[in-house]
Amino acid sequence: MNHSNDSYRHERHRQDLALRMIRHEARTCTIRECTGLTDDRIRRLYRSYAHELSEGPVRRRRGKSPRQTTFFIRNTRAQFESSLLASAFAAFGLLQGEAKKSPRLQISAVEYGRLFCDAYETHQQLLDSPTLSFEHAWFLLQLLNRNGELQPARCRHCDSYYLRNRFNVWRHTCPTCRLKRMRARCRKSRRLRQCSNSRAVSHG
Ligand SMILES: [Zn+2]
Repeated sequence: MNHSNDSYRHERHRQDLALRMIRHEARTCTIRECTGLTDDRIRRLYRSYAHELSEGPVRRRRGKSPRQTTFFIRNTRAQFESSLLASAFAAFGLLQGEAKKSPRLQISAVEYGRLFCDAYETHQQLLDSPTLSFEHAWFLLQLLNRNGELQPARCRHCDSYYLRNRFNVWRHTCPTCRLKRMRARCRKSRRLRQCSNSRAVSHG
């Protein structure tokens, strides 16, 4: 009796996770990796539930998965967004360095997938207009745990956590500091414009 209850619960968890990932437009191979469901079962879930789960139509991602490391640090805004997502991964204990410290991360693929969704959804809520897709987020987590080109670091000026290219020593300023500088420059030029406009009005 207990055994059948357990396997029923496990089935429910697998299906719930698959549906949650479908809502985020995850690829079939990513859903399979986390849930262990067959491609056929995933296709059927897409067909029977997708339209009920979202206000808009759920698209099924096809084609190649994202592959470019540079995508995540291609400009200040992208680097800021990727860095924020990496912080969420760290907070949810999804980075391998964290996993070694935390025994709770000796977990099943389903549990790992659920934590990943928690981290991704938290990140989505923190930004006004997030642009990173679920699949890019998934790829970023693999990259970080592979210990490749992208490396987390702490800014010496503001102490924030950010991602940088391990091999590009010339671009080691943090995106938070750069965004602050850009905003300050904008404010300054707006003030100057207002100033010269009011001078023009008083002289006119
Ligand atoms: Zn900084």
